[in-house]
Amino acid sequence: MGGIGGPEKLIVKGKRLDGRALDELRPIQIKAGVIKNADGSAMIMQGETKIVVAVYGPREVFPKHFARADRAHLNCVYDMAAFSTPERARPGPSRRSVEISKVIRDSLAPAIFLEKYPKTAIDVFIEVTNANAGTRVAAICAASVALADAGIEMRDIVTAVASGKVDGQLALDLFELEDNYGEADMPLAIMPRTGEITLLQMDGDITKDEAAKLIEMSMNACQKIYELQKRALRDRYATEGAAAEETVE
Ligand code: ADP
Repeated sequence: MGGIGGPEKLIVKGKRLDGRALDELRPIQIKAGVIKNADGSAMIMQGETKIVVAVYGPREVFPKHFARADRAHLNCVYDMAAFSTPERARPGPSRRSVEISKVIRDSLAPAIFLEKYPKTAIDVFIEVTNANAGTRVAAICAASVALADAGIEMRDIVTAVASGKVDGQLALDLFELEDNYGEADMPLAIMPRTGEITLLQMDGDITKDEAAKLIEMSMNACQKIYELQKRALRDRYATEGAAAEETVE
């Protein structure tokens, strides 16, 4: 059942309000190399959630005391544009955006060979242009593509998705109504090659058994998103290759 102020039901005859099956992802598009002035960039559209990520670096560290002798300083900034929500979002950092910036940083760091870039900084700027749930996980997917696009050496691409409990049923990749009025939300990020988990959060009310099922459902979906991330990078290099060929001729 939906919460106060929400729809009467979130699942009708086994279908969700946006027409999806319980284990179905929203339509996802990922593109690499969308910002000319960044060292690496990517955008993701996941249903109505839209995010752009720009990576700068490895570069010299300012202020200097952030510099680490043995590794790069990874800096992630998550921001929601004023026009990204139905009510104008207040510009500038908030408690939520500072926390999300930190969890995104911590979910990406294990995948990056930070030790290969001592005394430098890597900046990851995340701009949510339209928010419709799952922004932290979509941001992680786009940020890993942007980091790879910047040529930063990585163990693997990080892939993420949120699933949860809606009208008593487990559902993959919640959209906003489900996130707001469902019973539970569980964002998860993994390195798909090894299955190592780099982010796992949960709010709401679920059993241990349901948590295990949600993890499995999200991990399976991550393999599909992983393919889209790799394709985005392949397409980027294919375009670059074609452009280079044109120049040579
Ligand atoms: P995530 O976006 O990672 O799921 P939350 O669970 O905090 O993170 O937010 C869920 C959704 O609620 C967001 O994606 C967005 O659609 C909406 N939301 C969050 N903050 C605001 C806000 N300040 N104004 C309007 N909607 C918001």
